Order: sequence, then structure tokens, then C-alpha cells
Amino acid sequence: MRVLVVEDEVALAETLRDGLGQAGFTVDVAHDGVDGLWTAAEAPYGAYDAIVLDIMLPGLSGYEICRRMRAREVWTPVLMLTAKDGEYDQADALDLGADDYLSKPFSFVVLIARLRALIRRGAPARPAVLTAGDLTLDPAQRRVGRGATTIPVTPREFAMLEFLMRHRGNPVTKTAILENVWDAHFTGDPNIVEVYIGYLRKKIDHPFGRAAIETVRGAGYRINPDGG
Ligand code: CA
Repeated sequence: MRVLVVEDEVALAETLRDGLGQAGFTVDVAHDGVDGLWTAAEAPYGAYDAIVLDIMLPGLSGYEICRRMRAREVWTPVLMLTAKDGEYDQADALDLGADDYLSKPFSFVVLIARLRALIRRGAPARPAVLTAGDLTLDPAQRRVGRGATTIPVTPREFAMLEFLMRHRGNPVTKTAILENVWDAHFTGDPNIVEVYIGYLRKKIDHPFGRAAIETVRGAGYRINPDGG
């Protein structure tokens, strides 16, 4: 699970990086609002499972980051860190599109529990069923289909297709696939990605005479939003 921490207090940011890292999260840190927004909204793969967002930040406030992310239809779950006696009300955080908040100082145990709950819940505004033309993937039902035809896939194939479809229309690199579908510490042969792309094509494309999974030279793979 990959988490972005946007926190300008360097010591706190490092404590968060260490603590979340020990809890099994992969952590990226941004130290100001502009970098935070850019990383959250413009990073090529948008692959964060959650964002821990401080409110008082140089450049752009956490509120503004959240508002702009949502305006760009970036629905990554956001947990806001609010100061107890801050000028903002915690209700403001939720109004502006945060999914949860925690007052500073907070306990790590609580932070990790809240993050896990957020990630389990996922982003509410995400479409329940992912589509690319007549290609569909239903995360709740664990179903992949072409039109009315259900296509059996393995859990790994499902995870890979889900990752590609969550970024449909945009290329994702092999590295991003490895980090998100295997894990950040995967040390095996990265060509495993090509092998699985091949498996998926044999299931979702070839039998239907289609090519939804495109190879983007030098960039990775992309799901054609029209379903190929
Ligand atoms: Ca701050």
C-alpha cells in the first residue's frame, strides 16, 4: 500500500515515514503544498492508496490541495491532520473532500487503524464498476466481463487488470505495475509483468478479436478507454 504524506514539519514527516513504513506502507513525502498537490494529482500513475494531508502548509493549504484534487476528479482517500486549536474546524475538512481527519498530536496506532479503514473503504466517488468500452471489471463482485460474457481470471490477473483500468487511457510502467500488483519490495524478474500482460490478453482480448491492452513504447501499458 502506497501512501503520500504531505507535511512541512520535517521531523514529523520523517516520523510518519518511519512509522508507516514499519506498518507495511510504502511512503512518499512532500514538504509543501505545491509539491503535495502536484504529487497527488499529477503523478503519472496516481497510484496512492491514501494521502495523509497536513492543513497548514507553505504554498497551498491542505484544504486547497483537497479541493483542487477533487475538482480534478482525483478521489484518492484523504486523511487530514488538523491542529487541535487551529483556526479551521474539522467539519471544514470533510466539507472540502477529506475522508477522515485526526487531531495533532495523534497516536500512531490510531493513525494506522484509520488509514487502513480508509483504504478498505476506498474512495466513495470511484465508479463501482470500472469500464473500458464493453470491458468491465467489478471490484466488489470480483468479476471481469466483455459485454455479457464473464471472463475467469486469477487473483493476480484481476489485480493487474484493475490497476490498468483504474488508470485507463494513461500508460502505466512495468515498475508501477510491479509495485502495486506485486509489492514495493518485489525482487524477482520484472519480466513477470510481460508474462501476465500476455495471460490477460489471451483472456480479455484475443478471444474477442480486440486489443484493449496497448503496449506504449518506452512507457509501459495502457488500457484503451474504448476497450480496444
Ligand atoms: Ca504544517
